[in-house]
Amino acid sequence: MTDKSISGLYTVQFHTLGCKLNFSESATMERLLADHGIRRAKPGEEPDVCVVNTCSVTELADKKCRQAIRRLAKSHPGALIIVTGCYAQLKSDEVAAIDGVNIVMGNDRKNHIARLIEQWQADRVQPTMVDVHGFRELTDFCPSCSRGDRTRYFLKVQDGCDYFCTYCTIPFARGRSRSATIDSLVEQARQAAAEGGKEIVLTGVNIGDFGKNTGERFIDLVKALDAVEGIERYRISSIEPDLLDDEVIDFVAQSRRFMPHFHIPLQSGSDEVLKLMHRHYDTALYARKIEKIRSAMPDAFIGVDVMVGTRGETAELFKQSRDFIASLDVSRLHVFPYSERPGTVALRIDYVVDKHEKEERVAEMLRLSDDKLRLFTSQYLGTRRQVLLEHPARGCNVMHGFTDNYLRVEVPRHDELANCITTVSLDCPGNDVETVNGTIVAP
Ligand code: SF4
Repeated sequence: MTDKSISGLYTVQFHTLGCKLNFSESATMERLLADHGIRRAKPGEEPDVCVVNTCSVTELADKKCRQAIRRLAKSHPGALIIVTGCYAQLKSDEVAAIDGVNIVMGNDRKNHIARLIEQWQADRVQPTMVDVHGFRELTDFCPSCSRGDRTRYFLKVQDGCDYFCTYCTIPFARGRSRSATIDSLVEQARQAAAEGGKEIVLTGVNIGDFGKNTGERFIDLVKALDAVEGIERYRISSIEPDLLDDEVIDFVAQSRRFMPHFHIPLQSGSDEVLKLMHRHYDTALYARKIEKIRSAMPDAFIGVDVMVGTRGETAELFKQSRDFIASLDVSRLHVFPYSERPGTVALRIDYVVDKHEKEERVAEMLRLSDDKLRLFTSQYLGTRRQVLLEHPARGCNVMHGFTDNYLRVEVPRHDELANCITTVSLDCPGNDVETVNGTIVAP
């Protein structure tokens, strides 16, 4: 469908920061604009519209967003500059004050991007049109299923969060927990399969909370998606340990389509720090979940989010956290330094970790992560696994893909195998700790 009701605008450039949800929503906005005759600008082509989809997970993220907005506004002075996403949602005044910004729109307005452009064209709001609602009004669910830049699709199953962890501003940026219905998600998965999609990553802010507003259960979603013909792989992007039911683990263990791959935020391996964070579990529960996954799926890749240097994390509590994490049979850590967020309850905790100490703790956790990843990877060298190969980058003589259990593999380029599941022998460690060099055995 082409409805050229937006006059004089033909090309758009997106700049997306942050999580998979944002990338998925950017692709949806791109599709919505395409319905109005606005296509992605080719490299070197001047865009008529620039959309910056922002993130606000840390202070650094805010800073990167400001830099990106300024850079785009400067390089494309004639373009309509639209800023959306979590930073725009949380700090709309700050964003509106940046020179060159024409429209600031909240997270729930993303699906209305075309209408907002029409409104701006009609009213020419000066200096900036701001359409941002308070977090209590973020109740719409904007569906989104989009192909990433490589081969995977990202299917948004849930949005928002009711947990209000003390360090986190996401509930204020994304609103309360809400989900799509199972029927609508199955339909989107079928559509992705019809477009040739092979792998879908289920995304959301707090996926395990799926169905709170619809009365449906996450396990029923998993079962329904598993039955969709054509999709060969699903991954669950991240799930809180207290919401990861044993029933889900057991189902994934026997499913051919749900990959043996989990990403489970821990944040701290100290019970005292977990309490300060208002997390919903303790280390004992977390350790039980890891044991359960390992006994059901010995090959599963298990990624873990860890935050270091939070308020209240004394040297002793950090050591406890590190030792607990060292004891877990997990595959990799995603380490984040704690970042102070205005308006959060964590700011009431007196004990502050100094910057230098925080950096040392991050470095120590990253070393631990590399050790775990090397150990996990080494178990599969000399074996063969199924790899979904991605489209190779232009001018590159190798291509990449992931095994079922999320090992990143590099093989010599074979364009005809892009988006195909192929047997690869995993030969030796690659140039970096994250990559394994392999040889294609059979398409
Ligand atoms: S679970 Fe906690 S950390 Fe995660 S989005 Fe919700 S409030 Fe933030």
